[in-house]
Amino acid sequence: MIKLHDKHFKPFLSEEQIQAAVKKIALEIAEDYRDETPIFVGVLNGAFMFVSDLMKHYPHDCEVSFVKLSSYQGLTSTGIVETLLDVSEDIEGRSVIIVEDIIDTGRTLQQLVHLFSDTNVKEFKIASLFYKSEIYNGEYTIDYVGIEIPSKFIVGYGLDYNELGRNLKEVYQLNPSHMINLVLFGKPGAGKGTQAG
Ligand code: 5GP
Ligand code: MG
Ligand code: MG
Repeated sequence: MIKLHDKHFKPFLSEEQIQAAVKKIALEIAEDYRDETPIFVGVLNGAFMFVSDLMKHYPHDCEVSFVKLSSYQGLTSTGIVETLLDVSEDIEGRSVIIVEDIIDTGRTLQQLVHLFSDTNVKEFKIASLFYKSEIYNGEYTIDYVGIEIPSKFIVGYGLDYNELGRNLKEVYQLNPSHMINLVLFGKPGAGKGTQAG
């Protein structure tokens, strides 16, 4: 169990499980892009570690760039997504792989698809390391998925809880505070830290 700010998180995925998923995606992409050099466009900040390892596992030439959007505050989405940093490389006529850490509601993904639909790229595909399939209700298919996970809040391997936890090599899952309260005080929701999530 680890503590970040006011919340406790329990181990969920090991470094080995994560690296196996990253390698699987790298090889799937390589299979589809034998004859050209793709550009990986990482979505900051969450995807920085995934992009880095994805490129290390990628067996051929590849390029990298980043975009930055904003949507999450704490444990729940504000629903507001804005572009804070745009791709500066010339991506016209190129194949772009958008690299996301996690797909939850799909709102951010929708914004990304919109962003790249307005460009003259040859094609764009989406790779996401984690995918909350129970929550996702977007129409866009995710081309490369690492691991499908339940709809619980996770941290580690680039993913944060209020900016902490990104440096962890493993992934941890929120240990609901009401469970701790249930044990300590005998009723759910007692004590502090009942923020939705
Ligand atoms: P969506 O727009 O699909 O609802 O959410 C996408 C973004 O929200 C992700 O790129 C990530 O930054 C954040 N997010 C979604 N679920 C989680 C989660 O379980 N943990 C963390 N740390 N961030 C999440
Ligand atoms: Mg993200
Ligand atoms: Mg975040």
